[in-house]
Amino acid sequence: MKKLEDYVINIPDFPKPGIIFRDITSILRDPEGLKLSVHELMHCLEGTEFDVVVGAESRGFLFGMPLAYNKSKGFVPVRKKGKLPRETVSKEYALEYGTAEIEIHKEDIRPGQRIVFVDDLLATGGTAKAAIDLIEELGGVVVKVLFVMELEGLHGRDVLKGYDVESVITYP
Ligand code: IMP
Repeated sequence: MKKLEDYVINIPDFPKPGIIFRDITSILRDPEGLKLSVHELMHCLEGTEFDVVVGAESRGFLFGMPLAYNKSKGFVPVRKKGKLPRETVSKEYALEYGTAEIEIHKEDIRPGQRIVFVDDLLATGGTAKAAIDLIEELGGVVVKVLFVMELEGLHGRDVLKGYDVESVITYP
């Protein structure tokens, strides 16, 4: 039987020379890959009590939404700056070159809500940490940080120390 990693296509030198891009669109296009990805992520959530799934733009939406739906929870997006129409809190964070800014609707997380944060891939952990900071600024409690893939060599887990981090696929 195929494993989830068998569905990931690895693209050398994208988007820059020296980077191997892990493409998840090749999981989603395949009915069995899609089913397996949601199944594996759901498995990671067994035993976790939570209220809301927060997903990071944009691939975190693709995986966060089916989890929220299957668990009968709500879904809240973390988006790049300037996309959300209501009042937001925002956070700037460092990228390899330059900075990025993400935001979340202020009233969409209420104090004490238990949050599962989902994204497709953990690299340096900068994106996840910035999202978690926003959730906590609004009083949310992050009970699980979930990824489809993790690039262990970039030590994102060090940035997320103290959180319950889980990834379906790990790459060295
Ligand atoms: P980090 O902030 O360094 O942990 O990078 C994670 C973010 O970069 C996630 O939102 C990913 O979607 C994106 N990303 C980085 N590398 C890849 C990749 O190889 N495949 C898919 N997404 C990636």
